[in-house]
Amino acid sequence: MKANLSQREAEKTYGITGDDLTPSVSWSLYSLRKDWNAVKDTVSPWWGECSKEAFNTGLDQLARALKNWGDSRKGKRRGRPVGFPRFKSKRKARPSIRFTTGAIRCEAGHAVLPRLGRIKLHERAALGDARVLSASVRFERGRWFVAFTVEHDVHRPAPTRPDIAAGIDLGVKTLAVVATSTGETFEVPNPRHLGKALRKVRRLSRTASRRRGPDRRTRQEPSNRWRRADAARNRALGKVADQRRDVIHKLTTRLAATYGTVVIEDLYVAGMVRNRRLARHVADASFGEIRRQLTYKTGWHGGTLIVADRWFASSKTCSECGAVKTKLALSERQWTCTTCGTVLDRDVNAAVNLARPAASGADSNGRGADRKTGLARQVAVKRQPGRTAPTVRETGTVPRQRGTASEEAHS
Ligand SMILES: [Zn+2]
Repeated sequence: MKANLSQREAEKTYGITGDDLTPSVSWSLYSLRKDWNAVKDTVSPWWGECSKEAFNTGLDQLARALKNWGDSRKGKRRGRPVGFPRFKSKRKARPSIRFTTGAIRCEAGHAVLPRLGRIKLHERAALGDARVLSASVRFERGRWFVAFTVEHDVHRPAPTRPDIAAGIDLGVKTLAVVATSTGETFEVPNPRHLGKALRKVRRLSRTASRRRGPDRRTRQEPSNRWRRADAARNRALGKVADQRRDVIHKLTTRLAATYGTVVIEDLYVAGMVRNRRLARHVADASFGEIRRQLTYKTGWHGGTLIVADRWFASSKTCSECGAVKTKLALSERQWTCTTCGTVLDRDVNAAVNLARPAASGADSNGRGADRKTGLARQVAVKRQPGRTAPTVRETGTVPRQRGTASEEAHS
């Protein structure tokens, strides 16, 4: 459906027909910029009042979107089909701009940006001697944020317990249960920020729904009262998101900095979210994000991340004797082994199972794909984070707690 629509749009706009997959107009950033420069005087004579990066940001994103769409159509891109880029209204899109050239600095609670000059920040942030590559400014929940992409040498020490493997069972009741190969276990409680704050969000949503909101059908603009209520709701939701991000970062940092090997389950998050009763809590616990962070953070510290196979029955296997149950309802919170009589917390049992094969098969080579795990045939080592030298060239987001590599602040 979506693809067809895109195809039609493409045909209409760019004269692409049938199997001809090459557009008659070049879609590279370079040529889009050239086209823009040719028409900007007539289309928008006010262009000089803005930073040229404002236009460049949009053209860059358009070029990427078109490339993704083209690659997806030609089967060169994995994952879900990518649709044709849609028009973005300035009212609905999140305002953002990325500065890539010019005077970009961050010093003593101020950001210096091209065209905008010196801007006071809420946070006292400074980038020190890091080399700034770009700065992205965005408007979110009533505040302006700036994020710097920098190049900076960061020393991240090797894990403090390099020989110990930790199995992580991500859960709903508790955010994570950690079991080490030395037999220790501990729980990381699920903050359930969303659950707590949800009442407030619901109340604010009710307020908003009683006011005259936007109507897509009649093109009714929302009332100012609705806008205020909507903003309040977004602030409440945003606070939840911030707190959740904080908890997850602290957990993954701690794991990656402590254990030489971290083992997690390959949870089928997309499938779990489709299960409506679990969905909200699963999304709340952000399993996918935890895995993503563990992947790069274990790489930073020189540790190893092992993702156990999705079908490895970590919950259904006895961590004492290895007996496997065929059935285990999600409601059974306790593990009671019918073979050896072991009684354990369900999540602890699973975490211990995850930690074990990693410890017994552990070698220091860190390239999991070629090695034998030595135990539990169900465990397949799926992937490894790239091993990174202590000097990391960073481009993406960097951990905030280090305070040096990335500074995000609002003004
Ligand atoms: Zn048993």
